[in-house]
Amino acid sequence: MRLVLLGAPGAGKGTQAKKIVQRFKISHISTGNILRNEIKNDTELGRKAGNFVKEGKLVPDELIIEIIKKELEGKQSDKGFLMDGFPRNLKQAKMFGDMLDLLGIKLDSVINIDVSKDEIIKRLTSRRICHSCNNICNINNFKDAESAKCPECGGDLIKRKDDELKVITERLNVYEKETKPLIDYYREHNLLVNIDGTGMENQVTERALKHL
Ligand code: AMP
Repeated sequence: MRLVLLGAPGAGKGTQAKKIVQRFKISHISTGNILRNEIKNDTELGRKAGNFVKEGKLVPDELIIEIIKKELEGKQSDKGFLMDGFPRNLKQAKMFGDMLDLLGIKLDSVINIDVSKDEIIKRLTSRRICHSCNNICNINNFKDAESAKCPECGGDLIKRKDDELKVITERLNVYEKETKPLIDYYREHNLLVNIDGTGMENQVTERALKHL
């Protein structure tokens, strides 16, 4: 199973990705998580990407394509993959298509998670991420928000620097301009599955799984 997950920042890609990869036992490839880990570990790639991520801008395509190449090469024996946060623009989508052609493999589906802009802003401003395991939580789900810890591993929950309102606005602008056109691109390739991303997490997962 080879999948791409599309959706605006905060649409629930990370949360749904985790459930879908568990169901099909495929690799979860999140370019955002990879970049955040590189930045945290202060690697060369992390230093190159840091300011773009901090400002909510797209990291240069060349760096992203290198990441994807490495991930695909390392995971060739796996049962498949789910791309979360990649591709992010038409150039990446076309390069990805060429890469898959060379490897002789095809995508099965591109799932677009549809959520309104108001809901996205509400979700992103209350989103927290585990510093240790990248688990995604909503701070409103905890009684004591101040001392809340990751329910999966007990790690510290932090607010992503790019989840500040000013950066959220930039990320949504980038999404509208660069990433949203991928919906039509993959629709034209007969790969698009559009699902409603509102409601309970499990309901959204069910909607996605119905198509897979
Ligand atoms: P995400 O966790 O997917 O929201 O990504 C966080 C940030 O990482 C984005 O705002 C970008 O700065 C960067 N990023 C992640 N994936 C990509 C990509 N495919 N192309 C360019 N930049 C990316």
